Amino acid sequence: MRVNPDRSMPWSAAELAELNARFRDRPPEELLAWAAARFGELTVLTCSFGGASGMVLLDLVARLRLPIAILFLDTDLLFPETYALAAEVERRYGLTVRRQRPALSLEEQARQHGPELYARDPDRCCAIRKVAPLAEALRPYRAWISGIRREQTAQRATTDLVAWNARHGLLKLSPLAAWSEQEVWAYLHAHNVPYNPLLDRGFPSLGCAPCTRPASADDPRAGRWSGFAKTECGIHG
Ligand code: SF4
Repeated sequence: MRVNPDRSMPWSAAELAELNARFRDRPPEELLAWAAARFGELTVLTCSFGGASGMVLLDLVARLRLPIAILFLDTDLLFPETYALAAEVERRYGLTVRRQRPALSLEEQARQHGPELYARDPDRCCAIRKVAPLAEALRPYRAWISGIRREQTAQRATTDLVAWNARHGLLKLSPLAAWSEQEVWAYLHAHNVPYNPLLDRGFPSLGCAPCTRPASADDPRAGRWSGFAKTECGIHG
C-alpha cells in the first residue's frame, strides 16, 4: 500500500548510504538532532509506551529539547499500565503526547466485522486499529522516528538507520537499529527513565492486551498473537 503517492522519493540511494555511513558508529542522539535540524516540527517519534526502546528515544528527545512530536497509537485495547505510562510521561517531561485512535470504535468494529476480530483475523484487526490510523497520523510529517531494533525479529534484521519509506512517503529513522536489549536497559536504568511495569512481570514485548501474553525473555516476540504465525502488526512493513 502506498499512502502518499504524490511524495516521490527525494533521496537518492547514494544520499541514503552516506547518511547510514555517517551515523553508523555515532550515538543515537546525533541522528535525532540531525532530523530535528533538517525537518524541525515535521519530525515525529512513534512511541507505544509498551516497549523499552521507545522510552530511550522519548527520553533523548525530551532531554535534548528537540522539536519532535510524540505520537501514540491508541488502539483502545492497550493495557491500563500503558495508558498510565503515557500520562506519567506527559506529567514528568512536560510533553504533549499526540494520540491517534482508529476511525472505528470497538462497538462499530464489532458491528461491521463481528466481536473479538483479533481472535479470528488479527491482520484485519491490526489494519483497522493500527495500520490505517498510523497512515493518517503520519501524513503531515516528513520524517518518522521509530524504536525498532534489528535483533527484535527476523523482519527487522536488515533495518537501516535511515531509509526511505515508500508507503508513507517520508524518511524513516531507526536510531536504535543496532542497539542490543542490554544497551536499552542500561540506558533506562542509568537515566532513571520510566517504563511499562509489565516489562518486569514476564512480558518481554507489549501490544494490545488481547494479543499479548507473558513469554520467555529469550524470544521477545513469543508472547504476541499467541496461536498465530503473526509476529508483526504491519506498521513497520
Ligand atoms: S494487536 Fe490484536 S487487538 Fe491490537 S490491533 Fe492487532 S489484532 Fe487488534
